[in-house]
Amino acid sequence: MTQNHYEVIIIGGGISGTALFYELGRYTTASSICLLEKYDSLATLNSSGSANSQTLHSGDIETNYTLEKAVKVKQTAKMVERYCLQHAYEDKVIFSHQKMALGVGYEEVDYMKKRYKEFKTLYPHLELYDKKRLAEIEPAVIYDENGKERPDEIVGVGAQGAYTTVDFKALSDTFVENTLKIKEKITDVFFNNEVLQIQKIGSIFHVETTMSQFTADFVVVDAGAHSLFLAHKMGHGLDYGLLPMAGSFYLSTKKILNGKVYMVQNPKLPFAALHGDPDILVSGHTRFGPTALVLPKLERYKPGSYLDFLKTLRLDHNVIKIFAELLGDKDIRDYIVRNFLFEIPYINKRLFVQDARKIVPSLTEVDIRYAKGFGGIRPQILDKKNQKLMLGEASIDTGEGIIFNMTPSPGATSCLGNAVRDVKVICDHLSLDFDEAGFEHDLVEQEGEKNGH
Ligand SMILES: Cc1cc2nc3c(=O)[nH]c(=O)nc-3n(C[C@H](O)[C@H](O)[C@H](O)COP(=O)(O)OP(=O)(O)OC[C@H]3O[C@@H](n4cnc5c(N)ncnc54)[C@H](O)[C@@H]3O)c2cc1C
Repeated sequence: MTQNHYEVIIIGGGISGTALFYELGRYTTASSICLLEKYDSLATLNSSGSANSQTLHSGDIETNYTLEKAVKVKQTAKMVERYCLQHAYEDKVIFSHQKMALGVGYEEVDYMKKRYKEFKTLYPHLELYDKKRLAEIEPAVIYDENGKERPDEIVGVGAQGAYTTVDFKALSDTFVENTLKIKEKITDVFFNNEVLQIQKIGSIFHVETTMSQFTADFVVVDAGAHSLFLAHKMGHGLDYGLLPMAGSFYLSTKKILNGKVYMVQNPKLPFAALHGDPDILVSGHTRFGPTALVLPKLERYKPGSYLDFLKTLRLDHNVIKIFAELLGDKDIRDYIVRNFLFEIPYINKRLFVQDARKIVPSLTEVDIRYAKGFGGIRPQILDKKNQKLMLGEASIDTGEGIIFNMTPSPGATSCLGNAVRDVKVICDHLSLDFDEAGFEHDLVEQEGEKNGH
């Protein structure tokens, strides 16, 4: 074994890579694990608190989730909650607020009432709020600028006192901190090590970074949009292209909402619906967003990555067909144009306020500002074989000892769930033991708790 040889190397120190680092350290017999991060600290891209919506997606108020998807998301959200409570991270990493999804107008109200009935079986804590109740718990969604009740028919479906909000950067830091405390194994983190090349020679992976050379028996690439970039370099995932969808936010000049207020989602769109909620990093001021905009780069607010975008898109007739189909749909076309306008100074605020007034009818342009430096990039996958934009996360398990993960929303919520999926593959491949009983005891929701939030 050379000095730079590890059983497992994880590439990328966002929420996905750090969660895997923690689970491998805590629940497996892997004796040497290494995390390689390109920048000088953890979670500076999509997992940073200002890049994402800070929502622990449990599936109860996300109207774009089917019941089947909600079952899965709920399990992984619970893992994050249990981990945080186990380590007493309440009000440091995980926060509780009220939460709800609003139905506005006859059609949405009808839809929300039906959804409430269906989802109540999985989420017994869900409540249905009429206008009167909404006026008590979230008055800003009911009253206009003159203090008058909005005329629309309206209903809210939500919960009180649930853990709804996570600082995913802080969570990433805790994963690494807690893993480095494990003294009986080698757990190393190297910053400023951008992985340039991965090569498999025999059964060993050779990983070349801007600073050094490493080798490993197994590699997991949790590098966000760059996961697919690195996969393509090795000849994997060539049937996938990547569409970077940026999301921006607007911040209010004062606190407007008490909790998370989502809207009914257009099922054709792969992103969480526009919502408003207290920003845990900006003293509870209300944050509205995210928007959705195609950006020709893989990392937001960092120089470069335009060429990486072009390479990862892998433009061909299949990609053009996917774009043509998307643009052929009037709803999607309007959504794309509108979201583009949300980024253009002067007109952006005026337009955005029109949309956000569906949540807060009293909202005016002076109440909000474009949140500069906020927002990230969702690495949406284009499935070229089936000529479709994939709506969720994607993982390429090559079966050869290397996995590549691409994690748009709700990738931060699913961090521990995705990690355990990979832990099982790694243990199988390297004949390591996985303490499944310990993992389930610590992180999986127990039968008796299922009636809680
Ligand atoms: C606008 C927006 C809102 C969102 N809201 C939510 C939400 O409310 N709830 C939720 O659950 N999810 C949300 N998401 C999704 C969530 O943010 C992501 O799924 C999650 O942060 C992905 O984490 P990751 O670790 O996989 O990737 P990233 O956070 O992107 O981390 C990748 C890491 O890999 C490193 N890296 C990249 N290339 C290399 C290389 N070559 N060598 C070494 N290191 C490398 C990067 O520096 C980075 O640290 C949102 C996303 C966006 C954009």
